[in-house]
Amino acid sequence: MIIILKPNCSEEQLTHVLEKIEEFGLKHDVSQGEHRTLIGVIGEEDVVRNAPLRAIPGVENVVPVLKPYKLASREVQREDSAFDVGHGVTVGGGSLGMIAGPCAIEGEDVLLEIAKSVKAAGANILRGGAFKPRTSPYSYQGMGEEGLKILRKIGDELGMPVVTEVMDPRQVELIDKYTDLFQIGARNMQNFNLLTEVGQTKRPVLLKRGMSATVEDLLMSAEYILANGNPRVILCERGIKSFDSSTRNLLDLAMVPNCKGLSHLPIIVDPSHATGRPELIPSMALAAIAAGADGVHIEVHCRPEEAMSDGQQALLPDQFAEVMEQMRKLAEVCGRTIPKPSSN
Ligand code: PEP
Ligand code: MN
Repeated sequence: MIIILKPNCSEEQLTHVLEKIEEFGLKHDVSQGEHRTLIGVIGEEDVVRNAPLRAIPGVENVVPVLKPYKLASREVQREDSAFDVGHGVTVGGGSLGMIAGPCAIEGEDVLLEIAKSVKAAGANILRGGAFKPRTSPYSYQGMGEEGLKILRKIGDELGMPVVTEVMDPRQVELIDKYTDLFQIGARNMQNFNLLTEVGQTKRPVLLKRGMSATVEDLLMSAEYILANGNPRVILCERGIKSFDSSTRNLLDLAMVPNCKGLSHLPIIVDPSHATGRPELIPSMALAAIAAGADGVHIEVHCRPEEAMSDGQQALLPDQFAEVMEQMRKLAEVCGRTIPKPSSN
């Protein structure tokens, strides 16, 4: 931590600041320039972070040197995190997680039809929501446990790991019985009780960026999961709110290399919720791979016009297969691989 003193800080004030630093059990290192005085504060990281240094008279600013998200940070772990998310599919470290499926689970036949098509195209993780976070309480809310059973059954039948959203800490135990990965949606990125609860499980977590969250907010939310003992977090960029309504959200692609510099965690991109427009999804999916993403998350439906949720942004199976093929070629050029699930 570096303290910057005010330009008019008196000698008495400087002495007082140094005394206060010592009272907190910390060490100081004063650097007196011609115009300003800086004080390096050294000591136990948590004590330094929590000491109310900014409140001492004569202090203008306090600048942290270390990132507040220590477990998620590259400062703590230089190499990329990579881990198995089920059925031998590794995400991270050059291995791509290609997540596809419908927004919501609507029934066994529909999900099986979609799942077969995305698997044949090369997707290696099946998605489907059983509990849907809808803006309106009158919109389709999902099939609940019955949907989870269908998702598990089809995942097992096709030998694919599955991911589904958990919205509430009280659902964690139930969903844990059926899923391979938990998804935490954009609306719950800062539901700290939920982050704590999934942090205490052993399942990988797909953590989506909140629609108004900064990159640091996202990494702090990941930190909650890591700090509770679960190291397997995959970040997901799904677009942020903007003034422009021509796309559903604004896809922040620069956050992919940005996050990669700051954190060792894998990061994938969801061009479906980011753009909300099927015609924009293939190019943004390719751009995501080119930007260094560890995978994509794409909604697919065989009959989008009949979908119970997000049909307007679903790709048809053929469209998904085409972009998968292009992503496969691009990944190869970029030295990355798309693992196939190990069992059928
Ligand atoms: C979803 O994945 O269906 C979803 C609701 O996503 P988000 O939380 O990004 O809006
Ligand atoms: Mn959706």
